[in-house]
Amino acid sequence: MTDETLLGQAASEPELPATFFEGLLPFTDADDVGPVQFATPSGVLGGSSSGLYIGKGFIADEFTTYVQSYNFGPKPPTFIVLHHTSLPDTKHARLRHASWDSGEEKLSNAQIYAKRQKQLNGIWNYYRRQLGWDRGPHLFIDERWIWLFTPMYYQGIHAAEGNGTTYNYSIGIEVVGHYDRVTWPPQIEALVGHAVAVLKRQLGSFELKHQRFAGGVSSHRDYNKPSCPGAAITEEYYLRVLREGWDRLNNKGLSRSVP
Ligand SMILES: [Zn+2]
Repeated sequence: MTDETLLGQAASEPELPATFFEGLLPFTDADDVGPVQFATPSGVLGGSSSGLYIGKGFIADEFTTYVQSYNFGPKPPTFIVLHHTSLPDTKHARLRHASWDSGEEKLSNAQIYAKRQKQLNGIWNYYRRQLGWDRGPHLFIDERWIWLFTPMYYQGIHAAEGNGTTYNYSIGIEVVGHYDRVTWPPQIEALVGHAVAVLKRQLGSFELKHQRFAGGVSSHRDYNKPSCPGAAITEEYYLRVLREGWDRLNNKGLSRSVP
């Protein structure tokens, strides 16, 4: 599967309640653009009108397969930058309305996927129309899916100078929720740990250590936003989660033989 076939499939018009967009905290900071050049190649990846957005959710194994065959380009990403969305928030990590995962009690898994995909499309349309961005962060992770947002082939917009440069850029990961008072729930710990581990194995360009810019893992607070990825998500905490994910990935063959 390639980005070309994925891009543009999901960018339908959002039909979301107005409350979903009230004060989308991480999406109003023009500083996050940093030095990114808006240069969506016309006719490439769906053309300039669709921008750099995929809008598809993967479970862990699907993400593994995707990354293993992914073309990261001539200068693959060299670091990870972690975020929280703050808003939209979740029932577990609530700031206001839990707009990401409320109203899902009677929905099937497929219906929840469709609902959240529409919400993600809404965020993309907000970036594109209100902020005039042609891209955003690379991944959004909730307790069910790893959502592909901007193709990882490209530098993203998420953390000002933490976006890196065109040829030395970061992967920006948004964890859905507001994490000032609670840490990630176990399902999100598992998915974030898995996603970063798979990227580390494929890229080999960063270590699981706290370091700004190339070669390590950092978060938005290391650059221009002290409140992100949430006060509860300390460096000690997220590094422990990422190392557990790395150990799980590398021991998977063993653990499968254990009943
Ligand atoms: Zn952030």
